[in-house]
Amino acid sequence: MITLQDVSKRFDRVNAVTGIDWNVSVGEWWGIIGPNGSGKSTLLHLLSGVESPSSGHLQFRGREVSSYSRKELARSVAVLQQEGLGPSDFTVREVLEMGRYPFQDWMGREKKDSGPLLDRIIRKLELENFQSRRLDQLSGGQRQRAALGKVMAQEPTLLLLDEPTTYLDIHHQLQFMNMVAEWREDTGITVISVLHDLNLAAQFCDQLLVLQDGKIAGEGTPAEILTEDFIRQVFRVDPAVVSHPENGAPQVLLTANVSD
Ligand code: ADP
Ligand code: MG
Repeated sequence: MITLQDVSKRFDRVNAVTGIDWNVSVGEWWGIIGPNGSGKSTLLHLLSGVESPSSGHLQFRGREVSSYSRKELARSVAVLQQEGLGPSDFTVREVLEMGRYPFQDWMGREKKDSGPLLDRIIRKLELENFQSRRLDQLSGGQRQRAALGKVMAQEPTLLLLDEPTTYLDIHHQLQFMNMVAEWREDTGITVISVLHDLNLAAQFCDQLLVLQDGKIAGEGTPAEILTEDFIRQVFRVDPAVVSHPENGAPQVLLTANVSD
């Protein structure tokens, strides 16, 4: 679905990402992990077409991403950021309707009525009681669910998430990840998510891509990637890795030690 060949992105004097070779197949859930400034967001911006590579080839479904118009790409690729939606006086329902933008003509009309689709999403995300509520009257968890609803309304085949759970408490982190997982089960959508929480990444992602100083430091399953030595080397901490008692996923326990 996505192929990167020797992709680099340079901003003035900063090499944000360098020499990335990477393939993503339909239906996979990838986690991108790595320290601050390692190029994770830049890589997502390249995938979403917000930035274009300084060199190399980046293809989505066999075509260079740069050859797609914005609206055309938005019919297949949806992006959700850390704070998916800022506070605003739009209602939840209106925000979901905005997700239909790529399918509307210049008058804002759509061929088919999207009402039933929006109703389904609202039910699925347990937003029934909030659909007429303005965004600035919602909690962070509810707002992030509305943001997820907007990208679901877009009916993409590829979902890009940039640290979507950063501002959520642990209940809402898990709720959010489970809703994405369920959506993926229902539709076979491909997911690429930048995640800071290695333990969440280990439980939800099939594959991890590790960035360090803009380069790929490793890729593989959570079990292959999340070893004590590798985490020490990439994140400069001294962790203990244990196996989750219920599902066997590697789980990273931090000690107070940092390493240089
Ligand atoms: P991460 O998301 O892993 O924290 P980023 O992709 O945001 O990392 O940044 C990677 C590097 O590229 C950093 O050194 C950052 O300062 C630089 N960078 C990112 N975006 C820009 C930009 N628009 N202009 C200049 N430098 C940038
Ligand atoms: Mg980032």
